[in-house]
Parts: sequence; structure tokens; C-alpha cells
Amino acid sequence: NLQKRLDSVFKKLKGYGRLTEENIQEGLREVRLALLEADVNYKVVKDFIAKVKERALGQEVMESLTPGQQVVKIVHQELIELLGGKTSSLSLAGKSPAVIMLVGLQGSGKTTTSAKLARFLKKKGRRPYLVPADVQRPAAIKQLQVLSKQVGVECYPSDPKEPPVEIARKAVLKAPLMNLDTVIIDTAGRLHIDEALMGELKAMKEKVAPQEILLVADAMTGQDAVNMAKAFDDALGITGVILTKLEGDARGGAALSILAVTGKPIKFVGIGEKLDELEAFHPDRVANRILGMGDVLSFIEKAQETIDREKALKLQEKIKKDAFTLEDFRDQLRQIRRLGSLEQILSMIPGFNKLKKMKGLVPDEKELIHIEAIINSMTPEERADYKIINASRRRRIAKGSGTTVQDVNKLLKNYAEMHKMIKKFKKGKFRGFPQGLFG
Ligand code: GDP
Ligand code: MG
Repeated sequence: NLQKRLDSVFKKLKGYGRLTEENIQEGLREVRLALLEADVNYKVVKDFIAKVKERALGQEVMESLTPGQQVVKIVHQELIELLGGKTSSLSLAGKSPAVIMLVGLQGSGKTTTSAKLARFLKKKGRRPYLVPADVQRPAAIKQLQVLSKQVGVECYPSDPKEPPVEIARKAVLKAPLMNLDTVIIDTAGRLHIDEALMGELKAMKEKVAPQEILLVADAMTGQDAVNMAKAFDDALGITGVILTKLEGDARGGAALSILAVTGKPIKFVGIGEKLDELEAFHPDRVANRILGMGDVLSFIEKAQETIDREKALKLQEKIKKDAFTLEDFRDQLRQIRRLGSLEQILSMIPGFNKLKKMKGLVPDEKELIHIEAIINSMTPEERADYKIINASRRRRIAKGSGTTVQDVNKLLKNYAEMHKMIKKFKKGKFRGFPQGLFG
């Protein structure tokens, strides 16, 4: 699966302290394979990798403190672009009632999605009118009537003997009389795209001038869904896509190719048969999910804004030489504090639970002032080697800093503990932890 594949590529990339061009090329080769395996359109993959490569081989990565993570960030950003950038909502402004046509092949989920959409819009305060315009299958009208009852919205009493275009036209005229402002037309599907179907849909479009023509496509059909979207768009000029059945083990390739191939955004996704299983499509969240990294990217961003590169590099050197002093300890605490509450930071890191026990180590503002005072009251020798700080030195330091011996003891204990933890990080037990904070 795409997420797992990418995850292992990125773990490898993140493991490198420095990235060579070769590392990057190799990493991107694997990303490319993972995307192709996920059934992403070949040309889309090619363009995508080219874009990422150009950026990844540039300065922003080479000069970065965390090059591996920087590459991941670029892949993430480009994925979001590929998925459409921002969330694309329905545009129902203009004439009232607003008209939405749902089109697509048989079995793609049009009827179900019509009802889901009605439910969604009703929650947003609109007054939807469901219109069954599929007279192909006798049961189709009944199906939408049942669903509309479940959602609690009105359903147009379509006459199966009437042509669909007429049904749609009459329903749009009737909506304002019932004080309904959003007409959702569920159209007939075919097993394959054919001229008759397209002709009928085109005629309907002309008659009711919909604000939205949404193609409902089954994500499980992969590239077929993409090709179909293209065909419907060429014939009809769709305004967006609703990708259904995305919850399964759909390979996700369709979602990644639709915008690039059709130029039309995914607006919603169906993630189950139940009527509340429709979600607005958020490119950033989907990219996160594909990369399987929780909110670690926002953490990287935050850390990059805050962490002083020079200092961090020096610290890494020191830690390598096992010369992490009390002053470094103080600087690290300052840096952590600048990043925000530790809990918030930790919650953004995968493997959060392993790190939870660090929480107690991070002081609040007042404690930090004490810690600084205590460290300031130490001699340079004491700062460099805390083991020489015996009882009488502790008393002197407490007095000099206006704190208590207990405060000094606590500080030294925390320092010793962090020192120990850093050694563990160094041994690579916590690969996921961002470099720079602890080297
Ligand atoms: P239509 O022929 O395009 O109108 O398709 P239907 O709305 O009748 O749906 C066909 C089948 O797909 C039904 O069994 C639906 O319950 C199912 N379905 C629709 N959307 C989803 C979805 O998002 N996830 C899953 N798992 N099933 C869906
Ligand atoms: Mg149907």
C-alpha cells in the first residue's frame, strides 16, 4: 500500500544526516515506484517526480539542517498541489434554486451520493430537493425516495414515463414553490459511456443550467475512474468530482491523478455506504494520510522557524563529543519553550507515547527563570562538569541564585536525565525525533 511504501522510503531519507544527490535520486526512484504501484497515472507521476527532484536537489535541501525531512516536506507540498491545493467547495451562488447534477456510470454511487449530499447541505442550512431522474431502472426512483426519507428532505415524485429532461425541468420549477433552494438531480447511469447517455445529460444541462455538474466516480476502478472523468468532462464540462468507495483498500491512484488529468477538482469523497459517510475533500489532510505522518510536517515547519541552525549544529558536535553542558541544557530548554508547550510539540510527533515521559523535564516560565539563575550562579567548571557540584557547592549556588537547595537538586537531576536520554537518541533508538532539538 502506498502509505507503507512511502513510509519506508522516508524513514530511510530521514535517517541520513547529510543527503547526497545520489540519496535523493534513489529516494525519489522509490517514491516513483510507489506511486505507479498505487495506480497513479504514468504521466502524472513523471511530472510529479520532476517537480520534486528539481526542488530537492536545490539549495533548500542541501543547506537544510534536516535534509531528509526537507525532502519529505517537499513531497508533501507537491502532493497537496497535485490534489488541488485548497479544499474546493461547491459554488451554489447565483440563481435560486441552485441546481446540482450528479452524473456517472451505473453503480458508481450517484443515488447514494445524492442523498449524502442532501444531508450535507441540509446541515449547512440549505433546503435541498432530491430529484430522481433515472428512469432507466424502475427501482431507482424508489431508492432515492427511501433515502430522502432517511435524510429528512423532500423528494420530487418523478413519473417514470416522463423523459428525464422533463423531470428535471419541472422539479426546478417546483422547488421555489416548496421553499426549497437546492435541487439535486440524480441521473441515470450506463455500464459504459455512450452517445445516448451523453446526449440526454447534455440536453438536461441546457435545460436546467446547473451551477454544479459533479461526476461521481468509483475510486476502486483506479485509472478507469480517471479516464471516465476525462470523457465526461470533455462531453459535458463537469465542475468537480466526487470519488466514492475511497474507504476500502482503493489504491488511491485515482485521487492523485484526477485533477492533473481533467483539470477538475475532487470536491467530496465517499467513505462508506452510510449516509453520513461523505467528506469534503481536503488536499492537505489526504496528503498527510498518504504520507502517514500525522502532523509531523507542521512540527518540522515550526521547528525550522525557531531553531537556530548554527547553535544546533554546534550542539550536535558537542553531543557527539559527549560534552553536553549545563549551559547547553539551558539553551535547549529555551528552545523548547520557544516552540510552544511540549505537549503540543510531542503530540505532533509519531511515537508520541515513547516520549511522553519527557514532559516532566520541561519547565514553565517561572521555573525557567530559576534555572537560568541557578546556572548563572555556577562557576564555569561546575557548568562543564556537574559531578563536582557537592553539597556545599549546592548550598552556595542556591544562595547565590535566590533559590533553594531542592531547586538546585531538581535541576541537576533533570539535567542528568536529559543527558542520559540524549545518549539514547544518539544510539538511534528514537529515529523519529527531529534533529536539532537534541542533536
Ligand atoms: P448508482 O448506480 O450510481 O446510483 O449507485 P448507487 O448509489 O446505487 O450505489 C451503488 C452501490 O455502491 C451501493 O451498494 C452503495 O451502497 C455503494 N456505495 C456508494 N457510495 C459508497 C461509498 O462511498 N463507499 C462504499 N463502500 N459503498 C458505496
Ligand atoms: Mg442510481
